Amino acid sequence: MEKFTTSPFSLLSVVCATFGHDYAETRKITNHISEYTCCHCGKEVTDNMKGTLEILTVKIKETNNVLASFYAKKNQKIPA
Ligand SMILES: [Zn+2]
Repeated sequence: MEKFTTSPFSLLSVVCATFGHDYAETRKITNHISEYTCCHCGKEVTDNMKGTLEILTVKIKETNNVLASFYAKKNQKIPA
């Protein structure tokens, strides 16, 4: 009889709550701004202009998309 059915999600959330999130960089936006996802619970965060991490909302993701394309264009125009 399986009495102890552990949910991986809640277990990992406990790990995050105890030890903090283990973020891995998932996308580089600029030299100073990247997006990260927690390896354990899948929480997404991003660097902001203040240099701190904030939760990656849909709106911020859109802003990052614009920023990333702007940054890529800017970097292409390096004078020879
Ligand atoms: Zn986490």
